[in-house]
This record gives sequence, structure tokens and C-alpha cells, in this order.
Amino acid sequence: MNKQRRGDGSLRHLITLEDLTRAELDALLEHAQRYVCASGARPPMNRALDGMTIGNLFTEPSTRTRVSFELAARRLGAEVINLEVQLSSRAKGETMLDTIHTLESLHFDGFVIRDSEPGVVAHVAANVAAHVSVFSAGEAHVSHPTQGLLDALTVRQHKGARFEALCIAIVGDIRHSRVARSAYEAFTALGVGELRLVAPPGLMPEAGLFPAGRRYATPEQGLMGADVVMMLRIQKERMAQAEIPDGDQYFARYGLSAARLRLARPDAIVMHPQPMNRGVEIDSAVADGPQSVIRDQVRNGVAVRMAVLETVLRPRPVRA
Ligand code: ASP
Repeated sequence: MNKQRRGDGSLRHLITLEDLTRAELDALLEHAQRYVCASGARPPMNRALDGMTIGNLFTEPSTRTRVSFELAARRLGAEVINLEVQLSSRAKGETMLDTIHTLESLHFDGFVIRDSEPGVVAHVAANVAAHVSVFSAGEAHVSHPTQGLLDALTVRQHKGARFEALCIAIVGDIRHSRVARSAYEAFTALGVGELRLVAPPGLMPEAGLFPAGRRYATPEQGLMGADVVMMLRIQKERMAQAEIPDGDQYFARYGLSAARLRLARPDAIVMHPQPMNRGVEIDSAVADGPQSVIRDQVRNGVAVRMAVLETVLRPRPVRA
């Protein structure tokens, strides 16, 4: 049985982008685009999720994802409760399920979950009551579906919907990055023309993963002529101490400086999921420069999460 779909094929949860079709992605991106709001303008709001209650359970740190999921739910009229969860990794899924079953009795309709252990989000999704939906807000190094969607939306806004015409370079710690995995799934489903993976050997994903990506050992090769340069943070928390690269040396060989960015197309956009290590994977002059769309990514996060919450939760009947 599919872990995130109802019997009729519609999305009941959002745990991964791996089985989303191009048509489903296009529909979500178009839906999200309707919720994008210019900076300083009053954000769009409606009552689509009136009477619903969403719980946020985050066992790993988060700023943008947690806040934007909360804003998204509130702007659709739902109530949001942030739950403190401090779980030992032993039997984490079971402990989380006990909490969730308690909350189901209090009429929660959905749970937004971030966890550092692979499989916990899907385990919860497989065990919640039939009327409850689960949304991944980041699962270990495995996936971060709403980040993949907001990255695709950002590319689409700046480069248009003809993904076939684009060359996208993902640069940095691809091996430990859930952002890279979900972006890869979105970009390949949307038909990106050329996808490049640029990383030192220790940060390149294992052979067989990211099969449609062409691998480059240096930014000098991998950035040449790219339309989109997506930088990634070194995921120190997922590495042994000895594997963590020295920041200065890393910047010298892989950091995105203004000079390196000139290898890409002159109208290339620069992306980063944040938090950024300025001076390690990206120079401040580039992060804050005219080609950076990093703030658009944050803004798009709320719009994408509104579209996802509405798409998944809306088909549900109103309880008497
Ligand atoms: N915020 C992103 C994530 O949760 C990227 C990062 O932490 O590097 O994966």
C-alpha cells in the first residue's frame, strides 16, 4: 500500500516527493503561486481549514520551516498547537505515537513532524486514525518535501515553467542533505534538462543515488553555464567529527564566491535553503547580492505549505 495516498490515489499525507507526478507538482506549484505575496503586502488569508487543528512536533531545530508551517495553517483558518517533544531515540516512533493518539482524542486533524531518525514520519503516518494527515517537515537526511516544492517554485518564478531548458547545479554536502534529495525528486519529475551534482568525494552521495545527476568534482567544471546554483550547508550534525571539513579550506575549493559565480550564466540565480554558513559554503557578497533569491525561497515557503495543507486536508468532510 502506498504510504501517503488514499485508496482513490489522492494525497492523504505528504512524506516524500518521490511518487508525485509532473501534473501533481504543477498543480501544487500553481496553487502555491496564488498564495505568494509581495514583500510588505498583506498576505492572502481564507477559511479553507476553518475548525481544523494542526499539531507541530519538531524534534530537531527549525526556524523557517516551523514558523512557515504555522503561518500557513493559520492563514487558512486552522488552529495550531506547537508541542514540546523531547524524545530519546529509543522507541522514538512509539513514544511519538502515544502522544499523537492522545492528541487525536482532542480532535487534531494533522501533524507536522520533523525528526532526525529515518522512518519515524512514515511510521506515524501508517498508524494515525483514518481522518488524520501527517506532513513531513524534514526527515533525517532522507527528505524534506515542502522544501523541494518551494525550491521548484522559486526556480519557476525566476526561470519559467520550461524546466527542460534549464541546467541546475546542486553544490556542497549532497551526501547528507534531505534538501538535495527532495529537490532532485522535484526537478527530475518536472523534467529538468541538466542536473549537476558538485561536491568533494566525501560529500558526494553513494553511487546509484541521484541517477539522473552528472557528477562534478569541482565548481570550476560544475558551475559552467548553469542557470541555477543551489548551495547546501555542510550537515555537521550528520557527520563524525573527523569527517567535518575545515571551513577555510572548504571555502577555498567549493565556496560560492563572486568569481566562481561568474562561471555560471550571467542571469543565473543563487539559492540556499538556510541556515547559511557565510564564508564556508557561500560568500556574503553573493548571498546578499543581486543574483540571490534566498529570501524568495523563504517567502515561497509559506505559500507552498498553504497549498500542501489545503490540498491534503480539504477533501475531508466537516464533522458534525
Ligand atoms: N533547513 C534545511 C533543513 O532542514 C537545510 C539545512 O538545515 O541545511 O534541512
